[in-house]
Amino acid sequence: MTTPTEQIAFDQQHIWHPYSSMINPPPMYAVESASGVRIKLADGRELIDGMASWWSVIHGYNNAELNQAAHEQIDKMSHVMFGGLTHEPAIELCRKLVDCTPSKLDKVFLADSGSVAVEVAIKMALQYWHAAGKPEKNRLITIRNGYHGDTFGAMSVCDPVTGMHEIFTEVLPKHFFAPAPQTAFDAEWNPEDIHPLSEMLESNRNNIAALILEPVVQGAGGMRFYSPEYLKAAKHLCEQHNVLLIADEIATGFGRSGKLFACEHAGITPDILCVGKALTGGYMTLAATLTTSHIGETISQGGAGCFMHGPTFMGNPLACAVANKSLELLINSDWQSNVSRIEQGLKTGLAEAQDLQSVADVRCLGAIGVIEMKEAVNTVEIQKLFIKRGLWIRPFGKLVYVMPPYVMNNDDLHHLTTGMIEAVAEYRG
Ligand code: PMP
Repeated sequence: MTTPTEQIAFDQQHIWHPYSSMINPPPMYAVESASGVRIKLADGRELIDGMASWWSVIHGYNNAELNQAAHEQIDKMSHVMFGGLTHEPAIELCRKLVDCTPSKLDKVFLADSGSVAVEVAIKMALQYWHAAGKPEKNRLITIRNGYHGDTFGAMSVCDPVTGMHEIFTEVLPKHFFAPAPQTAFDAEWNPEDIHPLSEMLESNRNNIAALILEPVVQGAGGMRFYSPEYLKAAKHLCEQHNVLLIADEIATGFGRSGKLFACEHAGITPDILCVGKALTGGYMTLAATLTTSHIGETISQGGAGCFMHGPTFMGNPLACAVANKSLELLINSDWQSNVSRIEQGLKTGLAEAQDLQSVADVRCLGAIGVIEMKEAVNTVEIQKLFIKRGLWIRPFGKLVYVMPPYVMNNDDLHHLTTGMIEAVAEYRG
């Protein structure tokens, strides 16, 4: 048995963490267990989790019902290949996804992670136009400040600057980038906001397969909330110019923005929809890409006769069984009241941050609260101030933000927002 100190030393010498350095590793906090909204560190400290493990742990950690679903499934089979075989957990999950997503999305591809779901969505759009006799429609268009994942296809549609993938620019396929929407979620709609996208679509419609965007909430590319009117107008333009719309709801899906899917704020149905993250309640990796019968059938009538993707762990029964339970818990709960309770708590609790010198903006939507600083923060330094107050928050750039598990009670939420403001006030850059 190695000591906790030896374990951390090994970790820092040998293990890559998300976006981490091998010569200057950031401090690591070893976790012993997690339960409800609390993460217990190996040294005994307990932290209230403001991150929901990057949008995913909506029902809290160590949830008895999700645990039971996992135990029951693992005793039957943890995995079996999906090529030529099928099983109830996947069938049930796809049935639920078809039922709860916007209408007409009735063909489901189960993918391994959010990034892969985006790759699958892009391939669907390209294969669709290939099969439809328009192979020249092979470019994508997107909006700036977007983030869609870390694999090559996904990287190619992330914001070239804030999307964290600038270094790969030369090897990535060249797509079209329209300016980010400027009308904020609650602001009066300014129709001029859509003009740049409209012009780009009009001039390049013969080469554009799809518009890909995060509906209403742009996550890792800037934590921005934009007007649903923009999304409505974008959908309309796509129809007008014969371009598919891919909605990346990997972060927003399953209630986070106050609607089950953020597309519902605009009342639109995309042609292709990606979900992930909260799909399994944050228990394990699983994502899905849904599309319409028309697109599914057109792809299947093309030269290849099938859709060209099929990963080893596709439709993993263990992940599907937990996802089924997570969706059941969500749909059968009063999640909407819970998310709006959290929205209220975040709005009230974070309002004071606006008075701080170092703060540029405070905004909240659904169970998402953002303090945007004037200058980028040093994540390691500010994180120490959060930990001192018993909080787990991981800011990036200028953004100090939280998206708590939906089960967080008002006392913990109050502790979270108060501690967040105190730490931001104490932080001196
Ligand atoms: N799309 C969006 C909108 C995301 O927020 C993320 C993850 N941050 C991804 C795609 C990629 O998902 P994953 O990390 O599971 O590959």
